[in-house]
Amino acid sequence: MIYSKPNLILLLILCCFTTGKTVAQMTPTVVNLDEDVSSISVIQMMDFYLDTTSVYDIDDVAAPSFQDRFQKISDPHVIYDYLDAALWMRLTVNNLQDSHTKSWYFESWGFDIKNISFYFPNPDGSFAESTAGFDLPFGKRDIHHKNFNYLLNLLPSEKKTYYIKVNRNYNQEFVFHLRTNEKFISHSLNEYLLLGIYYGVLILILIFNLYLFFSLKDRLYLYFVCLILACIWFSLGRDGFGFQYIWPNTPWINRLTNENFIEFFIILATLLFSNRFVQKYTKSDKVIKFTYWAILVKMAFFINQLYFFELYYITYISITILILLVPFSLGLRSLAKVNIYSWSYIMAYGCLFLVIMYSYSKTIDIFDNPVLNWYFVYPVIFLEMVLFSFSIFRQIKFLQNEYIVANRERALALEKNNQLTLEMNTKLKEKVKARTEEIEAMAADLARKNVELQTTNLKLQELNSQVSQMNKYLEENNHKLQVNMKQVNQDMALMKGLDFEDFKNVFPDKDSCLKFLSELKWKERYICKKCGFNKFTNGPNHSKRCKSCNYLESPTVDTLFHKVKFPIEKAFYMLYLSNRKDIELTATELSEILELRRETCWTFKNKIALAMEKVDHNIELNGWESLALVHLE
Ligand SMILES: [Zn+2]
Repeated sequence: MIYSKPNLILLLILCCFTTGKTVAQMTPTVVNLDEDVSSISVIQMMDFYLDTTSVYDIDDVAAPSFQDRFQKISDPHVIYDYLDAALWMRLTVNNLQDSHTKSWYFESWGFDIKNISFYFPNPDGSFAESTAGFDLPFGKRDIHHKNFNYLLNLLPSEKKTYYIKVNRNYNQEFVFHLRTNEKFISHSLNEYLLLGIYYGVLILILIFNLYLFFSLKDRLYLYFVCLILACIWFSLGRDGFGFQYIWPNTPWINRLTNENFIEFFIILATLLFSNRFVQKYTKSDKVIKFTYWAILVKMAFFINQLYFFELYYITYISITILILLVPFSLGLRSLAKVNIYSWSYIMAYGCLFLVIMYSYSKTIDIFDNPVLNWYFVYPVIFLEMVLFSFSIFRQIKFLQNEYIVANRERALALEKNNQLTLEMNTKLKEKVKARTEEIEAMAADLARKNVELQTTNLKLQELNSQVSQMNKYLEENNHKLQVNMKQVNQDMALMKGLDFEDFKNVFPDKDSCLKFLSELKWKERYICKKCGFNKFTNGPNHSKRCKSCNYLESPTVDTLFHKVKFPIEKAFYMLYLSNRKDIELTATELSEILELRRETCWTFKNKIALAMEKVDHNIELNGWESLALVHLE
């Protein structure tokens, strides 16, 4: 209550002042288009009315009774704050030119006006409306240009009053111009050409760094690509190119060109890029550590600025620059330690600080000209990109030099190595050669010996076969000889005129006689006399025993010699002699030779004669042995 009185007085004074001013601005400000004028900045030649209630439409505002409420615009921002209110502006143009070849354009450079409605007066006093804006699709504009442009349709010596209703997002500075068609077109073409060059170069640097990233696989180039993208994003949002060419039907994307986001991404990319840049020259854990800390702190401030306690923009920028300076200066110190002074890198950083300030504060009034103020950041970004590119080139050159030096050292080491290897190889070859010769000699010797051995072996085999053949032959001969001998002896005994002594050599005793008799008797086969069985075993004195009935048969049974009472060999001799036609011995002579009694000899001689008679024996044809088996009983 104490302060209520002075406050009221202050209010009263203010009211008087304001009212006075309003009274003074009763007549509208007029823009006179004199001869030779082709372009004129009109913002401070207009009047405005702030509609905080938002209830008035064009008919209300254009009514003669309303005109008193307009005030003269004395600042390009028109009025600060009241962002929710509609800002009405009045423009009265008086065309004093008489050329019919000129037409006039109203041009607004603030392409980021949220909503702008332009009202053209019709001859009948009504108004035609044209609405466009940053929040509306691009195609709604009458003239497809990044700025808001309107053809005034103002004939020579005509005077018209236009109304413009504006809704803002922020305290923006308005840049309104009136231009002739010629000026408008040449200005637009120049602007588009320069912007085209600007984006063209940035995209070339971007593509080049992308290529470097894919071919060298180094994140440094990827971070730089991100930085370029952030700057391109920033520029697209700033000049309206993005809205016109990239997302014309989705105006909500315009809101993503928010300075907070862009600035955050520019700083993020810069921190990562500069850390990697320093690391490529010299490894520094300190720089890595502080880079990540700076990113965390910046992120915290960024989130705070968006959702919590919004700092005043100058404070925010100062903090940001301080955050950036810590890793940046640490990086510079690390580089200085290894004698690397990259001026392009330092200058690029300088440009970056300027860009950050610009990105946040929309315009910085360095120059009088708002166009220069607005576009000043473009050459700065351009320079920054070029300087960072130079830094990258220098770094590539540096790495290349390091590579060349390392390569040279490697080549030297390789050469030395090669020489050593060569020496060792030579020695080794000599040794191998000597050893090979030795082995070859040994092998040749071995081969020769082998051949000798084989030859000897063959000879031995041959000899062996000859010996075995000889043996076989000998054996055969031996056998033949033996057989022959026996045959000869027997033949001799049987055929020839032997005396008793010779005969005794062939049949020396009883046994040999029995054997002969046995062989002669069972020459064909054996049949038992008793049972007729044909299997036998040999018994004593060349007898045979029947395997069935056990009958033992002497070889003399059923022969001429059966039951002979004198030695059988003498009987054999007697039979032999009886078969000799050249010898005719009497019983007496026989008794003398055989030392037997005469009667014995005579009896046996008779027996032989009987046997001869029985079988009708022919001395010429048959041997004496055929008589031996004659059975006389
Ligand atoms: Zn028998």
